[in-house]
Amino acid sequence: MSRRERSARRGGRCEAAASAAVECKQEPGLFVPVIDRNRCEGKADCVEVCPYEVFVVTTLPVEQRTGLSFLGRLKGRAHGWQQALTPNAEACHACGLCVKACPESAITLARA
Ligand code: SF4
Repeated sequence: MSRRERSARRGGRCEAAASAAVECKQEPGLFVPVIDRNRCEGKADCVEVCPYEVFVVTTLPVEQRTGLSFLGRLKGRAHGWQQALTPNAEACHACGLCVKACPESAITLARA
């Protein structure tokens, strides 16, 4: 699938979200996704559903592992420290698709 097709598909999802009374048309920069590091298992559902390419799944930097709970560290090791990061958080339109899609309920939206 080409980038253009993916973009069109994402746009379709966004419109579907809007029609389902999800605030997809929110201006970017008002909210950002916050990922619970003790919950994220890097399954990448957020990467798939986000219409604005906010997420990547990559290796969690060592400095971001220090505050993890014991269970969080176990999960991190078990999943090769693969977690979702938000390098493009300012593009978030607060549609909520990632919050619904995350199988670990690891994502919330917070005011920027
Ligand atoms: S709420 Fe989630 S899916 Fe929607 S734009 Fe923001 S980061 Fe992307």
